[in-house]
Amino acid sequence: MTVEMVRADNVHKSFGSLEVLKGVDLVVNAGEVCCVLGPSGSGKSTFLRCVNHLEKINAGKIFVDGDLVGYHERGGKLHEMKGKDVARQRRSIGMVFQRFNLFPHMTSLQNVMEAPCRVKKESKAEVRERAASLLERVGLGSKIDAYPGMLSGGQQQRVAIARALAMRPKLMLFDEPTSALDPELVGEVLDVMKDLARDGMTMVVVTHEIGFAREVGDQVVFMDGGVVVEKGSPAEILANPKHERTQAFLSKVL
Ligand code: ADP
Ligand code: MG
Repeated sequence: MTVEMVRADNVHKSFGSLEVLKGVDLVVNAGEVCCVLGPSGSGKSTFLRCVNHLEKINAGKIFVDGDLVGYHERGGKLHEMKGKDVARQRRSIGMVFQRFNLFPHMTSLQNVMEAPCRVKKESKAEVRERAASLLERVGLGSKIDAYPGMLSGGQQQRVAIARALAMRPKLMLFDEPTSALDPELVGEVLDVMKDLARDGMTMVVVTHEIGFAREVGDQVVFMDGGVVVEKGSPAEILANPKHERTQAFLSKVL
């Protein structure tokens, strides 16, 4: 059975008089990797932030795993979620940004343990064990006691991925996770993401890494000017884009 992990229906988002999302429609099924491409300023980050409820949308609906993001639906009416419920919903979604934002005064292990310890449902020993095995999984088993300042950008980003996974998310959002890295460090981060994808994680990845989108993407979405201009399989969108705007964008990045 196909489960829709993300569904966006006609999503609108404005900042003041600036309309950034102008009716975004998108479905990402469970286990799928959806790669979002598009020029700077097209609304990609804003869209991810809306999915994670870091931004409130002005119109439309977003569902994550069947649950309406940010609202309770009761008797056909929408009621805005309160802080605690928002926090709970947000915890089921992992997010990785261009800037890793690790806590500089904490080791890799402490960074990965921080959120699950703060939520305090599990024992510290359990969290520590899971954090260590996640760091192992991203290839940093030997760096658990290292501080971010001692790590390369690629290593820091892998810690950030482990940190997001520590909350056992059902969905991972990546916002240009390799854009701030030196070129020689991009591959090690993409490899970790490929491994996650192979493991069945549902992922929405905003990226300019066309090779990654081609190899790992189940769906490629091209956004421009606050709308999804076209979407389809990597073969359709990357090799045979129908829209002029997609063609123009790809001719610049390929
Ligand atoms: P992308 O990630 O595709 O580069 P963004 O979603 O970051 O695009 O931004 C889309 C547009 O929204 C840009 O014009 C940006 O300046 C604007 N924008 C984003 N966040 C805010 C904000 N918090 N306040 C005002 N404008 C914003
Ligand atoms: Mg962005």
